[in-house]
Amino acid sequence: MKFGLRLHFLLLLAGVAALSSIAGYRFYAWYAGEMTTVLGQRFAERNVLYEKSRVLAMLSREVTLVQKMATAHALQQWLGDEDNPKLKTRAIDELEEYREFLRDRSFCFVFANSGNYYYNDAEGGADVHQPRYVLNPNIAKDAWFYLTLKSGRTTHLNIDTDRHTGLTKVWINNIAYDAKGRPAGVACSGLDLTDFIRGVVNTDLPGTTTVLFDRNGAIQGHPDASMIDFASSRKQAGKEAQKSFFALIDEPEGVLALKQAMGRLFEGQREVEALDLKVQGRRQLIGITWLPEIQWYVLTMTSPEEAVSSSGLGWAIFVLIVALNLVLLAALLVLQKTVVRRVVKLDALAHAFGESGHRMDIPDDRSGDEIGRLTETFRTMSDRIARHTLELEQQVAERTEKLEVMARTDFLTGVLNRRGMMVRLESEHNRLARAGKAMGLLLVDLDHFKPINDTYGHMAGDRALAAVAGSLSKAVRDYDLVARWGGEEFLIALFDLDAPDELQRVADKLLAVLRDEPVDCGPATLHLTASIGGVFADSRASLDTIIQQADTALYRAKNAGRNQAAFVTLTAENNAQRAVSGQPDDPTGNPEGSPV
Ligand code: GH3
Ligand code: MG
Ligand code: MG
Repeated sequence: MKFGLRLHFLLLLAGVAALSSIAGYRFYAWYAGEMTTVLGQRFAERNVLYEKSRVLAMLSREVTLVQKMATAHALQQWLGDEDNPKLKTRAIDELEEYREFLRDRSFCFVFANSGNYYYNDAEGGADVHQPRYVLNPNIAKDAWFYLTLKSGRTTHLNIDTDRHTGLTKVWINNIAYDAKGRPAGVACSGLDLTDFIRGVVNTDLPGTTTVLFDRNGAIQGHPDASMIDFASSRKQAGKEAQKSFFALIDEPEGVLALKQAMGRLFEGQREVEALDLKVQGRRQLIGITWLPEIQWYVLTMTSPEEAVSSSGLGWAIFVLIVALNLVLLAALLVLQKTVVRRVVKLDALAHAFGESGHRMDIPDDRSGDEIGRLTETFRTMSDRIARHTLELEQQVAERTEKLEVMARTDFLTGVLNRRGMMVRLESEHNRLARAGKAMGLLLVDLDHFKPINDTYGHMAGDRALAAVAGSLSKAVRDYDLVARWGGEEFLIALFDLDAPDELQRVADKLLAVLRDEPVDCGPATLHLTASIGGVFADSRASLDTIIQQADTALYRAKNAGRNQAAFVTLTAENNAQRAVSGQPDDPTGNPEGSPV
């Protein structure tokens, strides 16, 4: 029980630590799973839109230049009269100026009427004033031009290999209108495809792979050049691509989902789609969008860990839990100091007090809080109980002492009773035995006492006995003992005696006192006498022997005529009992005690 509270708090701490850890882990697991998917989708969508905007940005400058070029005044005039040398020179000069600004330093300009294809690039070589070749509406490879004119859209982008130059480019074709607003030609330029693709796939998005593929899934751009289906642009439309992005997807349902997303994008239902697919054994968050300008899809792939960095969150949760537990530990330490330690101390004090019940030193607690007040109350209470206990103990001791005194005292006379005398005699006898000193006993028996009772009644006899006891006590020294030995018999003990005559002197004094002091017994004043049996004994005689010898001596004194003393000496020198009866100096005048 001593560690009860502490254990409680420790368990509480452990519980909170466990619960918070579990809750934190569950949250982390949920976040890493559920949130990663949701956030990952957004991330993928944003990624691919960013890539799309980057692609468009790469194209837009060129597109703008080509548009400007198509609407240039000199070109419009030339469109009206192709063979006018003046107009032609001015227009070609203008085209040459634009060429300087175009990224791959090339322009082309085609007349609808003649099919004449004017072209120049950085290499130059041919006479720029002469058409390079003439387009033919019957040749499939020249179809782009006639389709562009018919489309109704002014600007066209497409990727194609030029039949005549053999260059595969992202072509930017812009219809040029004549003065009457009729489509009369096409101004064009191109971006080197390899250059363009490299620009797209070399993304600056960390951990993200950007892929370009066409409607058949044929990979057109990939950071890993070996993945690119170089030949696909020359393959027939609809024919299965050889290096398809679909082949990289591990699950058939993934391929299906991608194809469905591609369909929606192509039809313009969605601008962007996000998918969660397994690509080449790794889970990837995929964003995909359609670029109608180049008729390709842009796809971005990012691993979920990269997309939604949950490891940072894991650390944050871990730190939070540790912090929470530290705060709790601190709170516990404070609680330990302010509450637990004091309660445990108080508990120990209360326990100790319960065991002893005596006053204890309870340290001051002047904090004034509940525990402080409890301690103070406990202190007052324990002090009061301790005081009370002490008083009770003192009372018990006093009463016991009184009872002991009563048990040793003769009720009638107030001197020692027989039992009390025996106890004292035994201890004194032992003490004298050790000291090698002698002691003396005087057994005093009142003479002819029975007639007093008979004459004045028992009450008077009692009063007489009490008066005799008082006289005897007064006659001896304080450290001598007086006891009522029997009915009207008294035993007087004297210690540290040097010689028998000391005893004899005391006996004489007692005989004289009784003889000389009349006793008031109520109805009468009496003159009493007594007979005394005295024993002088050194330390070797046993107590029983001494008492028995006192009795014998008394018997002799009675027989010798009463109102006198008879003695026995029990010493080493005087091994044999030497009876001293009727001492010559003992004036036993009146042997008979007689009532007065
Ligand atoms: P003696 O000793 O001289 O032989 O004569 P005695 O009359 O004293 O004879 P004994 O000692 O045999 O008798 C003792 C008498 O003392 C008997 C009794 O009447 C009386 N006595 C003893 N105890 C008490 C007592 O407590 N109160 C009263 N009033 N008398 C007592
Ligand atoms: Mg007697
Ligand atoms: Mg007697």
